[in-house]
Amino acid sequence: MNGAPVAIVTGAAEGIGWATAQQLAHAGWIVALFDLNGALATERAQALGAQHSGWACDVTDADAVQARVTDVVARHGRIDGLVNNAGIADQTAPTLQQDIAAFDKVLAVHLRGAFLMSQQVIAQMTQQARDAHGNRGAIVNIGSIASFGGIPGRNAYCAAKAGVLGMTRALASEWARRGIRVNAVAPGYVKTALVASLVERGAIDAQAIARRTPMGRMAAPEEIAQVIAFLASPLASYITGAVLPVDGGWTALGAPEAALGPIEED
Ligand code: NAP
Repeated sequence: MNGAPVAIVTGAAEGIGWATAQQLAHAGWIVALFDLNGALATERAQALGAQHSGWACDVTDADAVQARVTDVVARHGRIDGLVNNAGIADQTAPTLQQDIAAFDKVLAVHLRGAFLMSQQVIAQMTQQARDAHGNRGAIVNIGSIASFGGIPGRNAYCAAKAGVLGMTRALASEWARRGIRVNAVAPGYVKTALVASLVERGAIDAQAIARRTPMGRMAAPEEIAQVIAFLASPLASYITGAVLPVDGGWTALGAPEAALGPIEED
């Protein structure tokens, strides 16, 4: 490959997506930032430098996804990485009160969105030359601790995030011989607007989460972004179909919370 590799990050205007765009740009990638908020995505891209680009794209809209991926190839010439990060929080209500349209929307953003984006990007990646290890491109999906454990009142989010891991394995298996790696990270709670909205609504208790997390705190967005950037990079050239928890030990804990002891303040 001549020149810098090119990555698309969805939901890139805020939170983990924005941290990932910054991390990839820092690592030498050209980044195309996709977001519902195209103006903010463009502003973010400009902040990263003139070679980057920002685009309005609703990942659930098949026509928009096709058009914007075509635009990125026209602008940047190739696509080497895709980070399917766009996501929304769940309605967080007892099952009997859950709204069907809200349920459908959570599944659409996380699953239909990752599927549509991957379909378009894989079509492009398979036309590109292989690197020294035989790889053509990498996709990183975003799971969650909700991929593994149930959270009462969050049916759609848990189903969507478990589904993300299923799709990761299916795509990884299908495309490995064509040189496309597909992996997922599974973050614990991360300090972003999405989590702030859950705290504000009383849907989650930030201190209770810290107590339940072996490392005693939430993650900063850049701590997730670093792992996403690793999985997208040639450093992960023989990893595909993997799920990497980045959760401060949340899924490792198999004992009552009290076994962790107090959170040290110093
Ligand atoms: P965030 O701060 O709310 O950022 C999500 C971004 O995605 C926003 O810019 C949002 O745009 C955009 N977006 C939403 N729907 C979209 C769509 N249909 N098409 C394109 N962009 C869309 O969220 P975050 O906390 O960074 O979460 C990012 C990902 O990590 C999500 O998949 C989430 O499920 C996952 N995750 C988060 C945590 C956590 O604790 N934060 C933990 C595990 C996994 P608008 O702001 O305009 O709506």
